[in-house]
Amino acid sequence: MSTTILDIVTPERTVYSRPVEMVILRGAEGDLGILPGHMPLVTTLPIGLVRIKEEGRWSLVALSGGFLEVRPDRVTVLAEAAELPEEIDVARAERARERAERRLAEKGRSDIDYVRAELALKRALNRLRAAEEAKVSLR
Ligand code: ATP
Repeated sequence: MSTTILDIVTPERTVYSRPVEMVILRGAEGDLGILPGHMPLVTTLPIGLVRIKEEGRWSLVALSGGFLEVRPDRVTVLAEAAELPEEIDVARAERARERAERRLAEKGRSDIDYVRAELALKRALNRLRAAEEAKVSLR
């Protein structure tokens, strides 16, 4: 099985750096399935899941937005933040979700940054989904 190197890096650390068989993620213009030898591509990445096939098994990474660069032999994700499912603190993500929902519910207050709260909610829901999906697939 041919492979391409996948690197997922944040300003703080390398989250993933291994040969993989396929990567599926959402780019700015829709879903992308990336196989070894993919044509070069650069795009932005919204908050979402990166699905990774390595040695025949699928896993995932929660991505809090970033940039993607694809070359035929290498896929690089520069992430604002990213976590493997086992790194996700579910209670923390629940607290972040509740905090964001509370802010969004207080309509019309000029001291609340609603765009920021929307993004915080998306990050929290994405982390909760990653943790939940990984738990299901481990069963
Ligand atoms: P919080 O409000 O809980 O800090 P956040 O979405 O504002 O959440 P980020 O700014 O996206 O957090 O991330 C800051 C750092 O904390 C990053 O390194 C990220 O990987 C980590 N992080 C955030 N939430 C979690 C979580 N629930 N579990 C594990 N790591 C997390």
